[in-house]
Amino acid sequence: MKLESMVKPEVRTQPVYEPGKPIEEVARELGLDPAGIIKLASNENPFGPSPKAIAAAQAALLQGELYPDGGCFVLRRKLAEVWGLKPEQFVIGNGSNELLELVGHAFLRPGDEVVMGNPAFVVYKLVTLLFGATPVEVPLVNHCHVLADLAAAITPRTRIVFVPSPNNPTGTSNAEAELLAFARALPEHVVCVFDEAYAEYLETPPDLRPLIAEGRPVICLRTFSKIYGLAALRVGYGYASAEMAALLNRVRQPFNVNAIGQAAAVAALDDREFTDRCRRENRTGMAQLGEGFKRLGLEFVPSVGNFILVRVGDGGRVFDALQRRGVIVRPVKSYGLPEWIRVTVGTREQNERLLREMAAARV
Ligand SMILES: *Cc1c(COP(=O)(O)O)cnc(C)c1O
Repeated sequence: MKLESMVKPEVRTQPVYEPGKPIEEVARELGLDPAGIIKLASNENPFGPSPKAIAAAQAALLQGELYPDGGCFVLRRKLAEVWGLKPEQFVIGNGSNELLELVGHAFLRPGDEVVMGNPAFVVYKLVTLLFGATPVEVPLVNHCHVLADLAAAITPRTRIVFVPSPNNPTGTSNAEAELLAFARALPEHVVCVFDEAYAEYLETPPDLRPLIAEGRPVICLRTFSKIYGLAALRVGYGYASAEMAALLNRVRQPFNVNAIGQAAAVAALDDREFTDRCRRENRTGMAQLGEGFKRLGLEFVPSVGNFILVRVGDGGRVFDALQRRGVIVRPVKSYGLPEWIRVTVGTREQNERLLREMAAARV
């Protein structure tokens, strides 16, 4: 029998996620020196991980023969301390991407509807399709999520709504009061997933814990991949009611988060100085890019994340031209933004280099 006819229909038609290419691969393809390439494509932290996280990861490697703690006991206890919640209210994932999938595992049946903004993080749609559910995409207005529009798209078949704030790829956010009111007004059959991957870049991130205290079906997702600089180690977490966390813990693999990542994440949470510095540097770098784009006469979307959308005309062409000059950025045609590219805020030097190459490439 042909595999094609055996495979589940959702899998047959599942779109493939296209990640940003690693530096080494770009260097190989274009015959460039990897040392001269900078990557501003995947919203990684240009300052790397905290030195404390690196030390903890190195120490954990010495016990690499042991299975990790499948329950992430130390990390959940640490998070409970940081958040003033109970350890049972956390679920740890192999990046928050895995948590998005776990939500699908736990809640989505074929025929369900899932409400999400467009453009928003593409993984919401991928997870929805993977479980045979139907994405209901709500257009953003001026690159912002209009929560009333999301609410209006909800039907009796809606099972999940994804609310990213700040959103990727637009870098826009919604205010705390708005987010709280939105979740409070949802019908009882809808699970609300707040994706807060970039919340640590906000000066005052919204506090969504009241929703959990009120017993609402919400889950808030965070990641160690962005401001904590640990994308390689794949650790993300969700906080929710103990009941919600238990359900998601039931559908994950027993050892879904590796020991090196767990150790690094615990240490990263202890280094507030590092994240405070990264937030400050990001703000300065964002201003630097904004001024640079203005000088180049380019429109951009004011962003509260660690990345920024800039309108360059032909995003694909500019992506290619910059890549040949050793600067990797993100084309966003797949997000319905063919005229734009998304650029991660780098170090001062990296931002200068990007602006220089953009000028030289006559963007
Ligand atoms: C980067 C990102 C994530 C996190 O990905 P990880 O799997 O934790 O590395 C989640 N949501 C959004 C919107 C992101 O941009």
